[in-house]
Amino acid sequence: MFDLLVKGGTLPDGRVADIAIAGERIAEIAPKIAAEAREVIDATGDLVAPPFVDPHFHLDATLSYGLPRVNGSGTLLEGISLWGELREIATVDEMVARALQYCDWAASLGLLAIRSHVDTTPDHLNTVTAMLEVREKVKDYIDLQLVAFPQDGLYRAPNGRENLIRALDMGVEVVGGIPHFERTMAEGAASLADLCEIAATRGLRVDIHCDETDDPMSRHIETLAYETQRCGLQGRVAGSHLTSMHSMDNYYVSKLLPLIAEAGIAAIPNPLINIVLQGRHDTFPKRRGLTRVKEMQALGIPVGWGQDCVLDPWYSLGTADMLDVAFMGMHVAQMTHPEEMARCFTMVTETNAAIIGLEDYGLKKGAKASLVVLDAAGPVDALRLRPARLAVIAKGKVIARTPRADAALSLPGRPASLNRRAPRR
Ligand SMILES: [Zn+2]
Repeated sequence: MFDLLVKGGTLPDGRVADIAIAGERIAEIAPKIAAEAREVIDATGDLVAPPFVDPHFHLDATLSYGLPRVNGSGTLLEGISLWGELREIATVDEMVARALQYCDWAASLGLLAIRSHVDTTPDHLNTVTAMLEVREKVKDYIDLQLVAFPQDGLYRAPNGRENLIRALDMGVEVVGGIPHFERTMAEGAASLADLCEIAATRGLRVDIHCDETDDPMSRHIETLAYETQRCGLQGRVAGSHLTSMHSMDNYYVSKLLPLIAEAGIAAIPNPLINIVLQGRHDTFPKRRGLTRVKEMQALGIPVGWGQDCVLDPWYSLGTADMLDVAFMGMHVAQMTHPEEMARCFTMVTETNAAIIGLEDYGLKKGAKASLVVLDAAGPVDALRLRPARLAVIAKGKVIARTPRADAALSLPGRPASLNRRAPRR
């Protein structure tokens, strides 16, 4: 007798299978499982996928849109300055409440693992206190990984370095940085050497806000690749954003990409935010600011889509739906071949899980029993529809359900209901 049986779903690779769950683990995956279960979910014709993973978010700032006022210029820099005001007036309780509300949204949409940067700039570290509390509160349904993020600079902010170390001592598990925001290119490079050494000494992963600018000469990713190798951190480092690569000289990029590949660095572009914040100083033509996604993938560099922001000083929209993120990324990176579209779905599930080092993830025997049933026929259809999550299962428990969103039609001679799935070919 299993605890839960998900019957007849279509897996992202196209196989049709039953999934049996015992306790918190997947006990069996097979075309037909005859055994009984305490609860059965009929997923016939629906997509059954591993949960969505967001490798780049800011949970301390989320759902604060309009506080203390909206970002008038729409730029990254005004957002940073607004957040600088907000983090001084927001209480721990407010930040916890906002983050928990966001986690409810995430859970309802099957987003069950989030890597969130946490601002370590202010001496009070209320952001860190709040996010550690949230990590504990959501641990049964969301794997929350926290990055110590010196938003105002490791060296540029007073006590920037000390406070980052304090946050790591408090239990934050990834080392962050922002080299393009330090005072000089040289200080940016020095910060990367320092941060990689801190991570190597403590056995931690690294995730850097790297070159989030339209300046083609912002080349900190080159230094990050060098420091990753020097400190033996291959496979444990991610470069987030990398928007300057959009504007870089092509000859230079032809040297840079192999260096990134060699260092085993992963890339995390954030398409909703990059398309909104970058190119703000341009007239026309106006740059898109998205990094070179397909070009990196062609060299075997892992690239995952991140969400970055929802309703905060940098972004006035957002839903916690990683399919929105992948949908935007697919358009801006022009990933429209069927294989590329399917890859965009994999990027917000398996690739992101690998980039943040999630353990026991995926639809396989013995893995954590976390999965999502979508009202779609397959991954590409899911991207197109961004449909209802019919059931979300976290570590063996059904934590959310959403009804199908079929429309009832009253048109003579036409079907009585429809669901907008793509016609089968
Ligand atoms: Zn960010």
